[in-house]
Amino acid sequence: MTNPHSPVICLDLGGSFIKLGVMSARDALEILDQQPIPADYWAAFCARVSAMIVQHEAHFAPDSPVAISTAGIVAPLTGEMFASNIPAFHQRQLAKELAAALQRPVIVHNDADCFALAEALAGTGKGHKVVLGAILGSGVGGGLVSDGRLVIGQNGLTGEWGHGPITLTEVEIDGSPVRIPRQACPCGQKGCLDTLGGARGMENLHRVLHDERASSTEIITRWQQPEPRAQQTIQAWLQLVSEPLAYSINITGASLVAVGGGLASVTPLIAALNDAVQRCVLRSTPHALVVPGTFAHHGGMMGAALLARQSAGR
Ligand SMILES: [Zn+2]
Repeated sequence: MTNPHSPVICLDLGGSFIKLGVMSARDALEILDQQPIPADYWAAFCARVSAMIVQHEAHFAPDSPVAISTAGIVAPLTGEMFASNIPAFHQRQLAKELAAALQRPVIVHNDADCFALAEALAGTGKGHKVVLGAILGSGVGGGLVSDGRLVIGQNGLTGEWGHGPITLTEVEIDGSPVRIPRQACPCGQKGCLDTLGGARGMENLHRVLHDERASSTEIITRWQQPEPRAQQTIQAWLQLVSEPLAYSINITGASLVAVGGGLASVTPLIAALNDAVQRCVLRSTPHALVVPGTFAHHGGMMGAALLARQSAGR
């Protein structure tokens, strides 16, 4: 078993970059390096990770474990990765194979799961029994934590509230019903919130409603001015996002939703989402239910390191 007080080597593996950090014995995370990811080839990927660790080895102990947060999905029984945008380790047993290459223990978890755990143990969800981590980044993702433990579930997809045929096909804008066609999602289904709920989804929704291309940043700026078309887009967006989120709260019993991803930094939008969710849940709370997470930027690495600590028995 790994020494639970050994510094943890933290990696964030995305489609473009490898980020490297260290979590000290005091559970403080320090970011050390960021380099392009060799996303196509396993050998090149392993060599880059190994070189980054060697370059910063003064921060680590010989028995430091490696904790990985990545956008891929990890099959709970086999450890096989589903990460189609990172062919280097898509369909590989990343933890097992990288552990053999690095001669260190390696754990791998989905980044939304890691974010949810970081928020539940050390962030805005601290003290709450059930915490839902909700990612509103370019897409929609999530993770669920109960009693300080990540709920993995049978398929490794627990908390993924952005997928499935869940979007409304009709919203109300300025008092009138407006039909929104259900969109095809890269996951293979039709009507996923992922197609309308993240930043790309908001842009898609604006295009559907107004036949106009605008970035999510522009839409949000114009909403705050306020400009009528952007206001209509955000009205529709709040309905589309708040209903499945309220439903997720009813099902999981979460008493707090910590929001991560780029849209989490738009405080007025998250406050408006909280108001909309509070109107839909079975039992509203005196405290805000939906709040920006504490670890919007490095929650993945933070959560992965905390998971490594948990698996080391601390
Ligand atoms: Zn989908």
